[in-house]
Amino acid sequence: MEKHKRAKMWLTHPYKWGQKYSLWPVHFCTGCGAIEMPPTMLAPYDASRFGMGPMASPRQANLLLITGYMTTKTLKYVIRTYEQMLTPRYVLSFGSCPIDGGLYYTSYNTINHLEWYLPVDVWIAGCMPRPEAFLMGVNRLMEEIEAGRADGYKRYEENIDYYRRNQERTLGKEFLTELKQVEWLT
Ligand code: SF4
Repeated sequence: MEKHKRAKMWLTHPYKWGQKYSLWPVHFCTGCGAIEMPPTMLAPYDASRFGMGPMASPRQANLLLITGYMTTKTLKYVIRTYEQMLTPRYVLSFGSCPIDGGLYYTSYNTINHLEWYLPVDVWIAGCMPRPEAFLMGVNRLMEEIEAGRADGYKRYEENIDYYRRNQERTLGKEFLTELKQVEWLT
């Protein structure tokens, strides 16, 4: 029994280690936080130290960064992008706007609670969080991956009816039809 436990630990540890240092964000930003990304990824903070590298295609990415407020128009593309990404996939959200609407709480075309539409693994509060806060969020995500708690993609699959209901309420029935067409293309 003890032998099995140890073997399992040796097998799962490198696997989790590899997952935690292979975060590939899709090259797609929303809201004010987009401006924090160049210094985070390039020389001043050099996020590639943590095994991060932006990907042009969602098919090769496993990290979705929601970098600020989101209009309903953008939400459509964000959901489409998320559904085309690799699993396990993670969502990291920046700033107050995706949490509760923030500055745009009363706006007619901005969503107030990202969690109604997509599962978020790590929230970074602030308006707008600086690159140091973003890197803290990345470290937090790595800890969650290592501990096996970064399971937003599973929550999405298990509660798909809940997410689809909210998506339909905000984006309309046509959106779900369009989404099916994209699925069919993939
Ligand atoms: S939290 Fe502040 S900085 Fe971020 S998107 Fe909202 S208004 Fe912009």
